[in-house]
Amino acid sequence: MTREELLIELESSVKSCHRCGLRDSAAHVVFGEGFSEARLVFIGEGPGAEEDRLGRPFVGAAGQLLDRMLAAMGMDREHHAYILNVVKCRPPGNRTPEPSETASCRPHLEGQLSILDPAIVVLLGATAVKSLINPGMRITRVRGQWIQKDGRWWMPTYHPAALLRNPAWKRDAWSDLKQVIDKYRTLVDPSHDSPHYPRPS
Ligand code: SF4
Repeated sequence: MTREELLIELESSVKSCHRCGLRDSAAHVVFGEGFSEARLVFIGEGPGAEEDRLGRPFVGAAGQLLDRMLAAMGMDREHHAYILNVVKCRPPGNRTPEPSETASCRPHLEGQLSILDPAIVVLLGATAVKSLINPGMRITRVRGQWIQKDGRWWMPTYHPAALLRNPAWKRDAWSDLKQVIDKYRTLVDPSHDSPHYPRPS
C-alpha cells in the first residue's frame, strides 16, 4: 500500500475513536492533512473552533498564519508538508489537553508518524514539545534548538496562535524556520528555494 492509502486507512479508524472524553463535545475528529510523501511534518496542539467545524487542521486564524509561514519558507501543505495535532478532537473552550487525553491520542499520532516517516518535525508550541519530547521542557527555553530523536530532527518553535497573541515573537519563530529550511535543503531537497531565505550562492 502507498503512504496515502495507509493514511486513508488509519484516518477511517481514528474517525471512529472514542478513547477519551474529548470526542463527546467535538463535531469532528480532525485527522490531519497534507502531502503524504512529505519529509517535513508540523505538529500542533489540537483543533480549535474552526478546525472542529470543518474537520481540517489549522484553518482558523492560526492556520492562516501557518500557511503564510509556509509560503515564506517556499512551501505549502499540498507539496511539502503534512500538518498534524497532538489530539485529534477539540478540547472544550480551546483549553490545553490533559496529559491523559494526549496519552489516549498518542497511538494515533505514532501511527501517523510511522506511516509518514518524516526526516524533520516542527513542534508548534508547548503541548507538542511536552508530549513528544519531554514533559518538563519549556517552549521558551528550547525553541530554536534541534533535538535528534528516533532518527528524526525535531525543531521546537512557537505555535502560530501564540504568535498572534505575541507578534514580537515572530522574529524568533522565523529564525527557527530558517533553520528548518537549512535542514530541508540538507536532508530533502538541496535546490529548495524560499522567497525570503534564498539559497547561498
Ligand atoms: S482526542 Fe484522540 S483519543 Fe480522544 S477521542 Fe479524539 S481521536 Fe480519540
